[in-house]
Amino acid sequence: MKRVLVTGGAGFIGSHLCERLLSEGNDVICLDNYFTGSKDNIRHLIGNNRFELVRHDIIKDFYAEVDQIYNLACPASPVHYQYNPIKTVKTSVIGAINMLGLAKRCRARILQASTSEVYGDPKIHPQIETYWGNVNPIGIRSCYDEGKRCAETLMMDYHRQNNVDIRIARIFNTYGPRMAINDGRVVSNFIVQALKNEPITVYGDGSQTRSFCYVSDLVDALIKFMNNDKNFIGPINLGNPREFTILQFAELIIKLTNSNSKIVFEKLPSDDPTQREPDISIAKNILNWTPTVDFEEGLKLTIDYFSKIIA
Ligand code: NAD
Ligand code: UDP
Repeated sequence: MKRVLVTGGAGFIGSHLCERLLSEGNDVICLDNYFTGSKDNIRHLIGNNRFELVRHDIIKDFYAEVDQIYNLACPASPVHYQYNPIKTVKTSVIGAINMLGLAKRCRARILQASTSEVYGDPKIHPQIETYWGNVNPIGIRSCYDEGKRCAETLMMDYHRQNNVDIRIARIFNTYGPRMAINDGRVVSNFIVQALKNEPITVYGDGSQTRSFCYVSDLVDALIKFMNNDKNFIGPINLGNPREFTILQFAELIIKLTNSNSKIVFEKLPSDDPTQREPDISIAKNILNWTPTVDFEEGLKLTIDYFSKIIA
């Protein structure tokens, strides 16, 4: 049993992670400022005497005695992280400094939820961890991309300078129940539009690609990576390599929901990456992990979730 801090624990991925850590017998502190997360995501955990909920913003320092820290606090959808870009940078950078300081003081292991966005609009496909990326430092996605890149830098510098025990996970597009309905991401937008028989908004011509990982697979990988004692600190790509164009994805959602929705094409936001697919060879070799949830199966569970929310 470990004492585990999950920042961003009331968010989409964080809530599933808290649930899993509790089910494995750990003590869990869930820290969140509820910017994009919600108490509804973790309401079922309140009352468990190994679960503690703390309203806190990671740009302020935080004191607790813990063995492990999963640093997930950060808005993740483009709509949410662009809402207050300066705050996104503060959360990524000052938040990482605060959590690394805590890890250093407690001698805790810290896992940083980094992202495929560190590769920007990648010139190498599929993306491998040794690729340094192609990121616009001054665009509308930069607050997130550069914030997360700086957080990786901080992780490495605390490791080299202070011997902090770190793990850097580069998470690729993840989906599942408890995604925020209003987060503007492609999975939630398309499913909600299809369920309401409203137009499906494909940005650009829909030829850009993404690869989607079901949340339970991702949580498995995060826990395996955190508890892996091969001293492998990463970075490591975590995601599902099955790649789709956004247009194919729209058609699949219409099929799975039996929707009457029609596809409409809207302007592509600037700096939208044209292709994205993780090379997960390292995760397979080091963690002995590979995603197991079938895409249509995962989508059905997600569609069921949104159907209930809309009802
Ligand atoms: P989310 O928005 O659902 O969760 C983020 C949580 O962090 C929310 O509960 C939010 O309220 C909280 N938060 C935000 N700023 C905070 C602050 N300053 N202090 C305390 N709490 C704060 O997003 P998610 O999809 O669950 O993503 C979780 C993490 O994984 C993020 O760091 C994100 O960058 C990373 N990630 C997610 C994906 C994905 O596809 N979901 C892909 C790559 C990386
Ligand atoms: N997208 C879209 N329609 C939408 C929402 C998103 O076509 O209603 C596209 C978006 O332009 C991007 C892809 O879907 O190319 C994935 O977008 P998302 O916001 O989910 O995540 P990203 O991977 O871009 O951070």
